[in-house]
Amino acid sequence: MNLRPAIERHLDDLIRIRRDIHQHPEIGFEEERTSALVAEELTRLGLEVHTGIGQTGVVGVLRGEGQSNRAIGLRADMDALPMDEKTGLPYASANKGAMHACGHDGHTTMLLGAARALAETRDFDGTVVFIFQPAEEGLGGADAMVKDGLFERFTMESVYGIHNMPGLPVGKFAMRTGPCMANADLLKISVKGKGAHGAMPSVGIDPIVVASQIVMAAQSIVARNVDPLKSGVVSITTFHAGSADNVIPDMAELTGTVRTYDTEVQDLIESNLRRVVEGTAAALGAEATIHYQRNYPATVNTADETAFAADIARRIVGDGNVEDDALPKMGAEDFSFMLNEKPGCYLWLGNGDYGEKGGVNVHNPEYDFNDDIIPYGVSFWVELVENALPKPR
Ligand SMILES: [Zn+2]
Ligand SMILES: [Zn+2]
Repeated sequence: MNLRPAIERHLDDLIRIRRDIHQHPEIGFEEERTSALVAEELTRLGLEVHTGIGQTGVVGVLRGEGQSNRAIGLRADMDALPMDEKTGLPYASANKGAMHACGHDGHTTMLLGAARALAETRDFDGTVVFIFQPAEEGLGGADAMVKDGLFERFTMESVYGIHNMPGLPVGKFAMRTGPCMANADLLKISVKGKGAHGAMPSVGIDPIVVASQIVMAAQSIVARNVDPLKSGVVSITTFHAGSADNVIPDMAELTGTVRTYDTEVQDLIESNLRRVVEGTAAALGAEATIHYQRNYPATVNTADETAFAADIARRIVGDGNVEDDALPKMGAEDFSFMLNEKPGCYLWLGNGDYGEKGGVNVHNPEYDFNDDIIPYGVSFWVELVENALPKPR
């Protein structure tokens, strides 16, 4: 174990910051208090601070010693989820309908801790761009920052992002080259039938029966059309129709998600879904429209940067605690928008094994970021910077 000793000094204060952010969660693009807290801390540390990038995003620029014009970007997300917290913790959410259930409070804190440690020593040659992004949870805050000129305004050779992972023990890192998180597409299906009395189905066209057939037929796409050696998910996750027990409604609405890793499978699922939805409805005398939206692209790590990140992690926690060929996940992550622009690596840091502290899954109302992992995250960032931007010898 090779944790940075300087971090020990800051740990209590970093935990205080983490819990303060946790207690005051803000959902996507509403991170006013959080981004103000971040900007204030970065300013106090002497960084050049830029606010309002991608609405509520913040960028801090720290220059090391020396003349190098090399630069890297480190990214944390700041947003909470629109859900109620049920942890009962003393620092539980004070904002109804918002909760840090994905640990972005911890990601923000670890990156602030890195800024603190690196600003103290400046033991590197080049520039570190600290990226605090809004709205990771479904709203595309990273895309907003990219569109707002993130990479034109701030030069970066590569970008890195850390996400905590419940189920992975504390002190372990995991990453992989290539796709590590999926393409996440949104699906909305409207089925138009013909309303009727519930006792007289023959004079109507029942959209509930039609939509039910669509749900079942859609399940055959992954099972029967996608190459069994490739990956895909089609999930219909909402089904809304009707308002009374004796009325056949005239509409049914479905929504869902499609997950894939490669564009070929994504194209195939989209076109087959269109055929299945429209064809099934037509076969039953109804009409259906499908709105298919490609939301987050797959998160794809580049080989060199992933190997580098794995090497840095090994220096901190040793060979046996770094899984550099981890399995990909079907979740999605909008850091993908940054990785579409720059080489880099998105990696996972163990938040605690299942059944232990930090072992409740993200997006669960009982989840809490594990403060014990702050030193690992901060050490990783500091080590990464000092090795990516070494001082001349
Ligand atoms: Zn999340
Ligand atoms: Zn997250």
